[in-house]
Amino acid sequence: MKGNASLHNKDRSLLEVKNLETSFLIDGQLYNAVDNVSFTVKPRQIVGIVGESGCGKSVLSLSIMKLLPKDTGMIRSGEIVFDGKHLEQMEDAEINRIRGNEAAMIFQEPMTSLNPVFTIGFQLMEVLLNHMKISKKEARSKSIDLLKSVGISRPEKIVDEYPHQLSGGMRQRVMIAIAIACQPKLLIADEPTTALDVTVQAQILDLIKGIQEESNMAVILITHDLGVVAEMCDEVIVMYAGKIVEKTDVDTLFYHPKHPYTKLLMEAIPKMDQDVEVLSSIKGIVPSLKNMPKQGCRFAERCPMAMAKCKTITPILANVEDGHEVSCLLYETSKPKEGVNA
Ligand code: SF4
Repeated sequence: MKGNASLHNKDRSLLEVKNLETSFLIDGQLYNAVDNVSFTVKPRQIVGIVGESGCGKSVLSLSIMKLLPKDTGMIRSGEIVFDGKHLEQMEDAEINRIRGNEAAMIFQEPMTSLNPVFTIGFQLMEVLLNHMKISKKEARSKSIDLLKSVGISRPEKIVDEYPHQLSGGMRQRVMIAIAIACQPKLLIADEPTTALDVTVQAQILDLIKGIQEESNMAVILITHDLGVVAEMCDEVIVMYAGKIVEKTDVDTLFYHPKHPYTKLLMEAIPKMDQDVEVLSSIKGIVPSLKNMPKQGCRFAERCPMAMAKCKTITPILANVEDGHEVSCLLYETSKPKEGVNA
């Protein structure tokens, strides 16, 4: 990897997101899609971010990579400190050097990131030549090696093919090859397997895990699938309506979930012995940005444990037990985390 010895210090944060607020301009008004979110990622950690669609997971990852749509999305406040550098203050040229080199991202549908008019080899070589001082010949040979390392057979042939000639699973492998080309310290994977069939899903997750284990790379894995979290993650962040509602290590989350939303997500995981017909799903929908409750708990409309005060008092993310943080009035005796506002 990058040969940075300090990365081996597991106590040091690679990424620190502090009180992040990201807003979107809709009909002339700003609405918060990510609301006062704070978390850290250490080298080699896999941190899962879970929640239904519309919970702010993807907006959070786009904020970290500064990939928000320029005319409508903006980071309004907070800090994103990556490897000691404040990304939220960086100009485009500076962030471009970090993106693809030190931090990379893969998306659900690789066709949205791969350019259909260029060969796989061209797209891999472009990344390598942009970030490394190597010749075109070396870049081509490195591209073939990278394709081989992500499990693509016949890489010497695939390197000259176009994205549409590959299957969905192979395209995602190519995206992973592009993402790891410069040996990033952080990979953000946004629903990387959702568009793939179950067998290929497992292969792609194994591939990401294998690469992470061989390197010092940390991973932020964004998913709506708690089964994937159980397989892959060290730490888990549960998001609802733009806020973190629960944050803890993976074992604690699965054996001692606290937040009613997390518990309902758990109940929605398909069980081997369960009839598909009786799968539980969470009633209602995540409030849209325009319809976000002004006060009280944002989950109150859907929460089976809701109390009268839940509609007027806004819960804060607080330590319930050592390292286990929950934002719910059922645990209101817990102490607010230092420096974190409602
Ligand atoms: Fe449910 Fe109230 Fe807790 Fe919100 S604060 S999750 S409504 S119990």
